[in-house]
Amino acid sequence: MMLLLASGFLIGPDAMPTRWQDPGYNRLLWIQGPHCDQREDQVIDTIVLHATVNESLESTTRWFMNPEARVSAHFTVGKDGSIVQHVSTFDRAWHAGVSRDVEGRERVNNFSIGIEIVNPNDGIEPFTEPQYRVVDNLVGMLKRRFPTVRYITSHEYVAQPKGRKSDPKGFDWERLRHWEPNIKLVP
Ligand SMILES: [Zn+2]
Repeated sequence: MMLLLASGFLIGPDAMPTRWQDPGYNRLLWIQGPHCDQREDQVIDTIVLHATVNESLESTTRWFMNPEARVSAHFTVGKDGSIVQHVSTFDRAWHAGVSRDVEGRERVNNFSIGIEIVNPNDGIEPFTEPQYRVVDNLVGMLKRRFPTVRYITSHEYVAQPKGRKSDPKGFDWERLRHWEPNIKLVP
C-alpha cells in the first residue's frame, strides 16, 4: 500500500478536469493515471485492443483515476475519435491482467501497449468510423516509436483463463489488415 501511494505521488496523477470536454477527433489529452509502474527489460512488441464496456471517454478516465480501480490502459479512444492518454508508453499499464500471448509469453502487460476503445462490448453496437481511423493512426504512431511492434492482439485472446474476457467484441480486424505482414494480427 505504501508503495502504491509512493509511486502514485512520484508519478503525480493529474486531477480530472473540473469541466469535462472531449478533446475531439484525433486529438490527445493526457490525464496521467496512478495505475502503472516501471516496465522490466522486455522489448515492447505488442498492442492489445480492448473495449471499455464503460459508456464514455469521461467515465472510463474517471474509473482509471479511481484509487480502487487498479487498472489502466495507455490510451482510450472515444466514440468521436477523441483520445485520452493515461500512462506513458514507456511505462507499464495494467490492462491485460493474467495473460498469455500467441508465443506463450505470460504477463502481457510487460511488453505491450493497451488501447481501450469506448464501446459496450455487446457485439451489437458497432465501433465507429472515427475509432477505426484513430486506432489505425495510433498503431502507425506506435510502430514509428517502437519499430519492434509486431503483434496486434485482443484482450480476449491473451486473457487467462480462456473465456475470461471477450473484448473488443465485434471489432472489425480487417480494418487493420494492411499492417500485415509487418505486424501480425492475432485477434
Ligand atoms: Zn480489456
